[in-house]
Amino acid sequence: CGIVGVTGNNDATNILLDGLQQLEYRGYDSAGIYVNDQNGKDFLVKEKGRISDLRAEVGSEVKGSTGIGHTRWATHGVPSKVNAHPHVSANGRFFLVHNGVIGNFAQLRDEYLQDVTLVSSTDTEVIVQLIGKFSDEGLDTEAAFKKVLGLVDESSSYSFLLMDKEEPDTLFVAKNKSPLLIGVGDGFNVVCSDAIAMLSQTHDFIELVDGEIVIVKPDSITIKDPEGNVINREPFHVDTDP
Ligand code: GLU
Repeated sequence: CGIVGVTGNNDATNILLDGLQQLEYRGYDSAGIYVNDQNGKDFLVKEKGRISDLRAEVGSEVKGSTGIGHTRWATHGVPSKVNAHPHVSANGRFFLVHNGVIGNFAQLRDEYLQDVTLVSSTDTEVIVQLIGKFSDEGLDTEAAFKKVLGLVDESSSYSFLLMDKEEPDTLFVAKNKSPLLIGVGDGFNVVCSDAIAMLSQTHDFIELVDGEIVIVKPDSITIKDPEGNVINREPFHVDTDP
């Protein structure tokens, strides 16, 4: 129900948790974060319940500079720790958070994932397993992501934030019929489903258009249209004066 991401900021864990806290007003049943420290250490923490419960579970060990976070409003699969996001591919390489609903997830699962054991009952896990599968078959991460987006039917709604353990400073971003903004920081960047989640970090946001793929790194934001052309789009400024 809410999504946050950050790359290039050593305070990633707190930025994610504080951002999720700002999204609490939307309501949710569980939450989780994935954080990578760029030195081979990464952390996946999920919890049913409040952000304060997640924060307690995260503790002080979880540190890094890039990460993604999610609050879930269950649509497929009961509210539980295992169904909470981020979801992970079977090869352990890809981590995904998702807001929305994948209309044809069952068909995609039956057609492509007969040999994969799904651990959750969510529509979302099918997407990250497909990315893992197409990556294992030789596609680079952006191409695997793009291929999966092409398989999702038009009835679906999503905002996706994807991380690849082998490219740990990069956020792969796409949306369809769900809100998503890139926040421009000084030497770092953030992503959020609602600007309110990141106003403590930046007031400059770039709006995304359905069908684009965005590659967010600490010092760059690359927006590509469905044909692969790079798009230039200036940020807008959010004023928070009373
Ligand atoms: N459909 C996904 C699920 O049930 C995402 C729900 C959401 O937007 O929070 O896990």
